[in-house]
Amino acid sequence: MTNPAPVHWIAVAVATPAHSGIGTPLTYRSTEPLPPGTLVRVPLGKREVLGVVWALVEEPEPELADSARDIAGTLGELPPLDEHWRALIGFAARYYQRALGEVALAALPPQLRTLSATQMARRLKRLHAAEPGQKIEARESLQALSTDQESALGRIEQESGPFLLFGTTGSGKTEVYMRAAERVLARDPEAQVMVLVPEINLTPQLEARFVTRFGEASVVSMHSGLTPPQRLAGWLAAHAGQARIVLGTRMAVLASMPHLALIVVDEEHDPSYKQQEGARYSARDLAVYRGRLVGAKVILGSATPSLESWQQSRPVSDGGSGRYVRLAMPRRIGAEDGGAGLPRVRRVDMSRQPRGTLISPPLLAAIGERAARGEQALLLLNRRGYAPVLHCADCGWKSECPYCSAYRVFHKIDRTLRCHHCGFTERVPRACPSCGNLDIGTIGRGTEQLEEHIGQLLAPVMRPDGTPIRVARIDADSTRGKGSLETQLAQVHAGEVDVLVGTQMIAKGHDFRRVTLVAAINPDSALFSSDFRAPERLFSLLLQAAGRAGRDAAVAAASEMWVQTQHPQHPLYEALKAHDYSSFAESQLTERAQAGLPPFTHLALLRADARTQDAAQAFLKAAAEAARTALTDGGDVQAALEHTTWYPPVPMAVQRVANVERAQMMIESLSRPALQRVLTACQPLLHKLRADPEHRGIVRWAVDVDPLAV
Ligand code: ADP
Ligand code: ZN
Ligand code: ZN
Repeated sequence: MTNPAPVHWIAVAVATPAHSGIGTPLTYRSTEPLPPGTLVRVPLGKREVLGVVWALVEEPEPELADSARDIAGTLGELPPLDEHWRALIGFAARYYQRALGEVALAALPPQLRTLSATQMARRLKRLHAAEPGQKIEARESLQALSTDQESALGRIEQESGPFLLFGTTGSGKTEVYMRAAERVLARDPEAQVMVLVPEINLTPQLEARFVTRFGEASVVSMHSGLTPPQRLAGWLAAHAGQARIVLGTRMAVLASMPHLALIVVDEEHDPSYKQQEGARYSARDLAVYRGRLVGAKVILGSATPSLESWQQSRPVSDGGSGRYVRLAMPRRIGAEDGGAGLPRVRRVDMSRQPRGTLISPPLLAAIGERAARGEQALLLLNRRGYAPVLHCADCGWKSECPYCSAYRVFHKIDRTLRCHHCGFTERVPRACPSCGNLDIGTIGRGTEQLEEHIGQLLAPVMRPDGTPIRVARIDADSTRGKGSLETQLAQVHAGEVDVLVGTQMIAKGHDFRRVTLVAAINPDSALFSSDFRAPERLFSLLLQAAGRAGRDAAVAAASEMWVQTQHPQHPLYEALKAHDYSSFAESQLTERAQAGLPPFTHLALLRADARTQDAAQAFLKAAAEAARTALTDGGDVQAALEHTTWYPPVPMAVQRVANVERAQMMIESLSRPALQRVLTACQPLLHKLRADPEHRGIVRWAVDVDPLAV
């Protein structure tokens, strides 16, 4: 035998099975002292998995040293993940109460797991052979900036931020992002910029604008719609510093970017920045954290900022936290010289219309007039399908889903009843399944019905060229196929559609040039929702939707946003009419402060799924009890516990999905650190409870920190 190689002990972050209770890196042996951040392949149980070296271990506990296995190898010449990235991952894991290895590995492109060292070496070679990242020059003279843009950029240049760019739709926020990026990239030949967007499929235009400005070689995108090789290539380009700009959805916030100097979060209020499974992180919040960590400037942009960001950007003298710099751009581009203003908001009092009216006569007339002039209209209805419920008037049968506490939606197009929660689909019955009555009817309306109805109503109207009006629908059903959304959007842009019906999908970000009328058909339900964020979401949806109208200065003056409502005097609609986000935000914040809700308090939800509702709630009750009895150290944790309020477990809004009962329990605190401390201390208690035979009925549990829907 030859001399045994020297042994080094390394702690490696690996993706341990969820809820195994192992949150920390595992110890392995290596013949080389691998630097932290190195990607390695290690044995785990019977498998070999990818891991990230987290630390060198000087002297492991004897039992760890005995049981430690050898690493299987390293991943070629890939430079180690830097300290900042590791600090970010460490923070995300701690803050969102997940295992470090899970968060670290989920942040890496999946293909890294399957590549051998040789394959890896080949990819790296290809990467270095490719065109180098473009040298960026600041080209400020291209277009004169508006005074709002000028002053926003000036402050971004001079102050450290984070910045909340509060700019009306069409005020030129994107231009500000690009100029800020240009300056950062021109100043430092290595600097990198991250641009986050809520849904990349909805914003191909943004990508196109960046590529046009900065060149294809400098921009990579990162989102779940890419193939595994594309994702790997993009990730490697960012990690190697070759990609100067990374444009992506929430997952991109965890990308390795060693020279990150600027982070932009566009439409920062958008709920899709919050991950809804696994580590339930908020990409917006992590972006702010990451900016501070690496000294990168952060710009959060929105026409309707989240109330969290609004509060952060409110001056201390107004009761805000004063942490963010608010930069306002209240005018649309062109408005300064009397051009494009904002659409006029018109409310239709539906309580004066005959019951069951879907489209009021004045709205119908307005749509018809516009279509006859060759202009486009967008009709928003946040319900897909033909009708949300099918029912029998004789016996009271309703189209309940057998597996969920929800109704199955009637889809007329393929004559199905579909559950939007579990996917259970059946053909529509010919007669009532319970009494045989042949005359079964619908309750409520969805986008399919609106599309059909508006088509019939507008049949007599002709377009300027004498051809009939064309109605199209865009929602999750119409865009199932890959690329179908792009195709449908392209048709709208090309003017092949006169009236577009859709869900909130059509309200976001698209730059429709010929739309002069936007209508919310039935937005009232959000006014009375049990979710305290519902009004905030409705307001931003409506204002975003209004922003789709009149983007072209030539048609802007006459553009309109219609709201059909039973409550035309509601303060939310009053604020909308005035395009006054600030006053809406201030009044919401006053209510939130009085009710003790975020952003004035901090929340976490403990969720449990089980075979029965009782079992789910019993688990949550036991967790609260365990916290009360176990967290009595007389020190920090106990003190923190005393700063939290635990609410009783309740069923979730949709209580049963796919035959699993769901319950949740809210924990609230005025102090974020106290809440954090308590949640961390609860982790081992929860793992122990889960293993207790008494809670055998539990399917899974999870902690949601800063939940969006409560
Ligand atoms: P936002 O992102 O705030 O909705 P955009 O950045 O998309 O607004 O700008 C709206 C439109 O105005 C775009 O077509 C953009 O090209 C144009 N634009 C932006 N800044 C200027 C400017 N300084 N001068 C002329 N046009 C501009
Ligand atoms: Zn019946
Ligand atoms: Zn179902």
